[in-house]
Amino acid sequence: MNSIAGPSNSNTEQEDGSLIQLPVKNVSTDLIVPFLIRQKVLPNIDDALSTIIPTTNQPQCFNYNHHPHPLTLVIFSNEVATAVVGEQKNVIDAEGEMMLCDACITPIHKSCPPHMYYSCDKCKFFLHLSCYNLPSGLEHDHGEGLHKLSLGVKGALSWSFCDFCLFFTNGLFYRCEDCSFQIDVKCASMPAVIRHEANRQLKLIIGRYVKEVRDFDCSACGYTFSSYYRYAYASENCDFNLHPACAMLPRIVRHKLDKHPLPLAYPPYSHHSGDIYCEICEEEIHPKRWTYYCRECDQFFHNPCLTQSAIEYTNIKFGHQLVLEKCHRSDHPLTFTLGSLRHTCSLCPKIVYYDIAFECASCYFSCCDTCAGIDVLE
Ligand SMILES: [Zn+2]
Ligand SMILES: [Zn+2]
Ligand SMILES: [Zn+2]
Ligand SMILES: [Zn+2]
Ligand SMILES: [Zn+2]
Ligand SMILES: [Zn+2]
Ligand SMILES: [Zn+2]
Ligand SMILES: [Zn+2]
Repeated sequence: MNSIAGPSNSNTEQEDGSLIQLPVKNVSTDLIVPFLIRQKVLPNIDDALSTIIPTTNQPQCFNYNHHPHPLTLVIFSNEVATAVVGEQKNVIDAEGEMMLCDACITPIHKSCPPHMYYSCDKCKFFLHLSCYNLPSGLEHDHGEGLHKLSLGVKGALSWSFCDFCLFFTNGLFYRCEDCSFQIDVKCASMPAVIRHEANRQLKLIIGRYVKEVRDFDCSACGYTFSSYYRYAYASENCDFNLHPACAMLPRIVRHKLDKHPLPLAYPPYSHHSGDIYCEICEEEIHPKRWTYYCRECDQFFHNPCLTQSAIEYTNIKFGHQLVLEKCHRSDHPLTFTLGSLRHTCSLCPKIVYYDIAFECASCYFSCCDTCAGIDVLE
């Protein structure tokens, strides 16, 4: 097994010139496939994914360790229904919902072949071809040498904290067998050396090394590295540092205040004269911070303002349906979602708008996690 992160293996990655360029277009193909190659699950060839396509004479049902039901391999045609988000075409289901992979919580997309994914239709459980092949164990450095991680999942309604990006996930994640460390599969796939579009080559520093850069601020968001951080991406002389989550900021986001896709933008904002302000909080934006920017509307957004709303749940898959008889009619399944139907819970005064909610679309019912009796952070 290979270590995936840490100064120890960074030189080899640097020398072979195959640095991951962030932000990636597709997590599954641009981040997880290279990880599988480093883990020797896939051969180091251009068309690596083609080597893990099951042949047709194999059974059509696949038993998978991390899901209770057998999965089927779905092959989609070029005419599959998609929704365009930025530069990516994401596959949508019959209800027009975007289909998210239950491992990496990013869309099933049709950017490049092979056009297939694994599915449990009943549970709306989907996996990228790459994510289906994630190694069940690996060695990992999270500050105290190499520890053994094993792959697991807790379920749609049970979240795990990622010690790398500091967000929760309800997708697959690796748990350390030697300590309490946990990391989602997207973060586990991040290499020790990256190149960021902001034009810097950055090296992952781990554990006690992060303390040495703590006096510096993150070059993307401007915030410090609090004691929660075990990792930072830093330039050679540490004059440019990124929180792992900032290094992984998506290339393009959407926000209801702008009808266009918003690309990540970097200083200097020389095309724009005068001070710049965030459309969400209306505060001034520091001219040296990264932003999301719409050129058509000339609108800027603080990345932390977007982070607090849209990106905080970036690794959570919503949409799970369940019957909660003690809260609502048993013939009306509720949908686990980010509340959008009502401002407050139908059963108590708690605000459910843009928070965890269990909604029934047919009767304008929405209840909070407490009333539902479900603690996702348990
Ligand atoms: Zn995936
Ligand atoms: Zn299932
Ligand atoms: Zn993470
Ligand atoms: Zn550990
Ligand atoms: Zn940051
Ligand atoms: Zn716009
Ligand atoms: Zn309530
Ligand atoms: Zn109802």
